[in-house]
Amino acid sequence: MPRPSPPVMTKLLSVYASVVPITVQPVRDGIYYVNGGMANSGFIVADSSVIAIDSQMLAVTAHKVLEAIAGVTPKPVRTIILTHSDPDHVNGLPAYPRGMEIIAQEHTGPQMQEALDNPALNKTSTPAELKYYLPTKTVKDDETVVIDGVTLRLLHIAPAHTDGDLIIYLPSQNVVFAGDILTPDFSNYPGIHLDKHGSSLGWIKTMQALIALNADIYISGHGEPLKRADLESRLTVAIARRAEIERLFAAHKSLGEIKAALNDPAPTGMAKMFPTFTETTYQELTH
Ligand SMILES: [Zn+2]
Repeated sequence: MPRPSPPVMTKLLSVYASVVPITVQPVRDGIYYVNGGMANSGFIVADSSVIAIDSQMLAVTAHKVLEAIAGVTPKPVRTIILTHSDPDHVNGLPAYPRGMEIIAQEHTGPQMQEALDNPALNKTSTPAELKYYLPTKTVKDDETVVIDGVTLRLLHIAPAHTDGDLIIYLPSQNVVFAGDILTPDFSNYPGIHLDKHGSSLGWIKTMQALIALNADIYISGHGEPLKRADLESRLTVAIARRAEIERLFAAHKSLGEIKAALNDPAPTGMAKMFPTFTETTYQELTH
């Protein structure tokens, strides 16, 4: 069956998203994470405003998140921080008020612009209004900011899921929002976007840095919050897997042979849209 066109895919997902509930979970000290929709998002209730984290993909879900925020506090959303440029994290931005401060790693804005300029790149439609929501403040690698009374350390360690990954660390609350750095691919290994210059080696370095932070709750781009021990076990497993792929590659095995040797399951459903860790690591090794 051919892959649905981006507008058809967006319509199908919007129907799905309209019936999927979102849940708002308090983390601690005015920090909330939102589970449901097409990706996790989050928000922090600051002195006189709300700092949002990621926007969801679809307007229907972004509106649900805004309603949920309004159910917690009457304060307006004045800032949003983006963990990376993937559509399920940024395409809901037009549901938010215009004129917000939009913070992202410096490679994220150009990737959003590229999605606007080149619809064929994407599996879903990019809303034209996204052009009004490009980052207004960019971070290179490590910046501590105080936004409306909330101290946040914004970190980019190395290209990992993408080269625009931004870690949001709240040092006083020991909480991290790490976006899809922590989201595994469908075979439970790191999800790496080579088209956005992600890297498995950079991912390993990034995970080591995440583990070194004084944090005990790590919120991922998808799924339940993680603990440091979860990160440690995922890192161990991924390092071992990468070493196996490297060993087989060095023995001149083809990608097909490596997948067979590692018992890589053939992706099904949505997983077919994304390369597996074996595929991305093999691609990296050939360059
Ligand atoms: Zn992503």
